[in-house]
Order: sequence, then structure tokens, then C-alpha cells
Amino acid sequence: MSGFQVEVCDLHKRYMTAPDQYLDALAGVSLTAPEASVGAVMGPSGSGKSTLLHLIGAMDAADSGSIRVGDIDVTALSRREQTAYRRRIGFVFQRFHLLAALTVADNVSAPVLPHRTTFDKHQRALELLAAVGLEGREQSLPSRLSGGQQQRVAIARALINQPGLLLADEPTGNLDSHTGIDIIDLLVRLRDEHGMTVLIATHDSAVASRCDYMIQLLDGEIEAQAPTT
Ligand code: ADP
Repeated sequence: MSGFQVEVCDLHKRYMTAPDQYLDALAGVSLTAPEASVGAVMGPSGSGKSTLLHLIGAMDAADSGSIRVGDIDVTALSRREQTAYRRRIGFVFQRFHLLAALTVADNVSAPVLPHRTTFDKHQRALELLAAVGLEGREQSLPSRLSGGQQQRVAIARALINQPGLLLADEPTGNLDSHTGIDIIDLLVRLRDEHGMTVLIATHDSAVASRCDYMIQLLDGEIEAQAPTT
């Protein structure tokens, strides 16, 4: 697995909030996420963090501007190509979105179950669960796990397709601060081992300080991009 470089140029996204009323969620955002870097997208609630990640993940369409992920021009993809693209990246959310009726191992392999793969799905799920520290919990139901453990399952699931880019939207938002830091340290270690690029939306400066660099968003504009060292 190798990481994608992400190149965002002059990205605009406007929402209609009432008839004749618009809100610029992103008002000309440009950024570069180097290959295999872990970046924090910071900013207060409503500053545009989720919108930015959704556009990079092709879960929503930009009004103008461009997004390049590796050699893919995300803003030029057809619907069918968007679906294929989304399979090449991983998503982690604040709410873990695990399927309550499935075991932990089946949750991890769920995204690839409908597809033919070159790898053994169950075996890959077990390997990923070991990598996130959940060996022995493979047959548990998600409800038997703590919040931090459930987020680890969600991270393993996000990695099932060996993505070149992992997008995490407030991944520590439902966790206490100590557990949240453990989750970020896990993401950094997985990046060290697998080399994927990671972008984490967060309003928590303790989370951002564990990343390689941070981008500060305010009212849909970038205020600063700086290393965290
Ligand atoms: P953040 O993730 O930093 O909290 P968001 O990207 O979720 O910020 O939102 C940026 C702004 O866009 C906010 O003012 C939010 O209310 C608005 N917004 C987000 N999604 C929609 C939508 N679907 N319709 C209208 N406004 C939206």
C-alpha cells in the first residue's frame, strides 16, 4: 500500500440555507497533503471541516475548484468512477457506524463482502483486528466493546481495501480525551506501517498536536497550514 498525495485547489462549496440565502461552507480552499503524511484539519464547529473531507472523499460535489488524489482528478469523475474511487479510500466517522447484528470480524469484512477480492476477506479482517489491538474479540458483537474498541473496529474496516488515503471525521468526538489520543496514536502507527495518507478533521488541539501538520479552517477559508513540531 502506498499513500496518495492530496492536492486541493481553490475549492468552493455553497449551500442554500433558505430561498435566496446561501452559505459558503468552503470559500476557496487550497491545500497539499503530502504522501503518507498525517494531517489535522482544525477549526471550530461550522468552519467547513466535514464539507472538505466529504468533497475529498467524493461523497459530495464541489461547486468549483479541483481535487487531485494520487493520479485521480476527483472533481472530474463520473458517478460510476466515484464509486470505484471511494473503494480506494477509507472513511472513519465520529459515530462508529458498526452493524449491531454482525460480529466484529464480519463488520471489518463487510465492505468487501459483495466484491471479488484478490485476498481472503476473513483472513484480512483478522489481521487488521490484530493490528488495531483487538485480537481475541473477533467474534464479539460491537455492543460488547467500549467506545474506543468500537472505533478500532471502524478503523480496521476502513483499511480492508488497503486505501491510499484515510479520511477521519472527528474520530475522537465520542471518546474521552485519553482514549481519543490512543486512537490518534494508532492512526499514526498504522500510517508508519502501511504508508497511507491520513486526514483527520478535529476541533481538539491535543489530537492535532499528534499529527505531522495542521490546517486551520475558519468560515470556509484556510487561516494557516503549519507543521506541528
Ligand atoms: P464542521 O465540520 O467544521 O463543523 P461543516 O463542514 O459541517 O463544518 O459545515 C460548514 C457549514 O456548512 C456550516 O455552517 C453548516 O451549517 C453548513 N452546512 C453543512 N452541510 C450543509 C447542508 N447540507 N445544507 C446546508 N448547510 C450545510
